[in-house]
Amino acid sequence: MGKRDYYDVLGVSRSATDDEIKRAFRQLAKKYHPDVSKEKDAEAKFKEINEAYEVLSDPNKRRNYDQFGHAGNDPNGFGGFSQGFSGGGFEDIFSGGFGGFGDIFENFFGGGKKRRDFSNQPIKGENLAAHVKMTLKEQMLGKKVQLDLNVDKPCEICAGTGAKDPKKDIHTCTTCDGYGYVNIEQRSLFGIMQSQQPCPDCKGRGKVITSKCPKCKGQGHYRGKETVEIELPKSIHEDQQLRIREKGNYGLNNGPRGDIYLEISVKPNKYFKRVNDNLHLDLPVSYLDALLGAEIKVPTFDGDVHLKLPPNTKTNSVFNIPNHGFFKSPTSHRRGDLIVNIIVTIPTKLSAEEKTKLQELKDVSSFKIADNFYEDL
Ligand SMILES: [Zn+2]
Ligand SMILES: [Zn+2]
Repeated sequence: MGKRDYYDVLGVSRSATDDEIKRAFRQLAKKYHPDVSKEKDAEAKFKEINEAYEVLSDPNKRRNYDQFGHAGNDPNGFGGFSQGFSGGGFEDIFSGGFGGFGDIFENFFGGGKKRRDFSNQPIKGENLAAHVKMTLKEQMLGKKVQLDLNVDKPCEICAGTGAKDPKKDIHTCTTCDGYGYVNIEQRSLFGIMQSQQPCPDCKGRGKVITSKCPKCKGQGHYRGKETVEIELPKSIHEDQQLRIREKGNYGLNNGPRGDIYLEISVKPNKYFKRVNDNLHLDLPVSYLDALLGAEIKVPTFDGDVHLKLPPNTKTNSVFNIPNHGFFKSPTSHRRGDLIVNIIVTIPTKLSAEEKTKLQELKDVSSFKIADNFYEDL
């Protein structure tokens, strides 16, 4: 069964604001929370709602989703890594990143107090979107491209711990006793409500760093450029989206890298054009060669080939050169044709000698437009 559209799941429009999304989510989440809901399928619904909210409440993921659909946010990826990072720091990993849903529900319904331990869980890195512009020749024959990516690199100085000395500078948070959460009481319409909030001192980590790593300033990671080399398959189509596995953002705790979703566009070519698997060429040919016949050179994307032009070749005559078109598929050896459309071309300037010779030619020429042409007008 296919996945439902996230906007449908939350019952909001594609242009819904963050507030509208949040409101819809809260209502549905209350309705379907498995602890309170009497609906059957509550648990499955609840999961679906959470997944939809997880994506639509995050601007990056929402953008990916709008652009790529469900493929844009690999559920395995869960986006923890960069969501945490882009959201302004480590704390987001623990609140937004991993457990968007846990947090909200623990706040809402007062979940049991348990120590959160995400320290060793491998998390796949975030998927990235990229775009490559290429020439028609590169599209046909394939290409190695270098993508410059902004990625969150794990800090190699502190091995991702954020501490200057991981052995000495990481301590259990005394405010929350390592739980990452504190209980707070709030007066509300319904009386005094107790809820849990992420610990303000350790931001939900349960641990504090007393001396931060100078390179990553305690984050455990830093934003940096990285060049990734990718081999683009031959003869891909422009509307094809490529998924390049595990070249995206870095994972956490040795989790795999995310994927790259690559879109391509092809620069228009003045002479060549792709039509399905065939390559079309408008080839300018001298009027003399067209009249007298000649062996002419035809440029192709894999070197010149020769074409025998018969005498009296008219403009828009078409010649097929087999096996010089696009590949039937990136793994196929079979190819389409090069289709050559002859454009007979007259000179824009004549030398004195050419003029004299042409005049002589005209004097002896038998050429006439069809006899009855003027009568039929
Ligand atoms: Zn704490
Ligand atoms: Zn560091």
